[in-house]
Amino acid sequence: QPLRLGLTGGIGSGKSTVGQILASLGAALIDADQISREVTGPGGAAMPAIQSTFGGAYVDASGALDRTRMRQLAFSQPKARSQLEAIVHPLVALHSQQRIQQAIQSGAPLIVHDIPLLAESGRWARQLDAVVVVDCTADIQIERVMQRSGLSADAVRGIIASQATRTARRAVADVVIANEAHCTLEQLQAEVRQVAALFGL
Ligand code: ATP
Repeated sequence: QPLRLGLTGGIGSGKSTVGQILASLGAALIDADQISREVTGPGGAAMPAIQSTFGGAYVDASGALDRTRMRQLAFSQPKARSQLEAIVHPLVALHSQQRIQQAIQSGAPLIVHDIPLLAESGRWARQLDAVVVVDCTADIQIERVMQRSGLSADAVRGIIASQATRTARRAVADVVIANEAHCTLEQLQAEVRQVAALFGL
């Protein structure tokens, strides 16, 4: 059985970048957000239940979840959010499980789970051999996300405030990857290679 790593970090910390580096080193990367987008994408496995629960108004012309409308609904009605999660989460778990089986069958040496909210939800602890946290200051998170998305600094601050604190995230970490302002992509790669080596990659 390959080791299973959890990979997490706040918005803009560099988690996806680290995940891609690990994948380039041969790890099987399982990205819960990506699977969640797939099951709510055109003809996705969650779409029939979304259609029957919320109605056709939340399904766009391509047969995918209308994210903008759903975000508005979830914002005004917290119950809608939990209803959506009750549909999507079990499917994400199922599809993740299928990918884990495929990774094991294909002989992957390491399985890496990209879990943005790992520190926020305790349920992962038992399934993972170790947790890797990508860490940087809030200022750098704000800068990276603003560059990438055009969100305002205040909007990014709001998202950061809604996530686990840096301290809480570091508390669940077995390994912390520092991805600070001065860290170039080459340095990040070198740091990730060292961490990967710890786990036999
Ligand atoms: P999110 O939670 O929002 O998905 P994330 O933690 O996955 O964010 P990334 O998408 O990996 O973060 O990184 C955010 C942005 O910052 C990306 O555009 C990425 O290319 C850039 N970035 C991350 N680390 C570095 C670095 N060390 N040097 C230069 N750019 C970086």
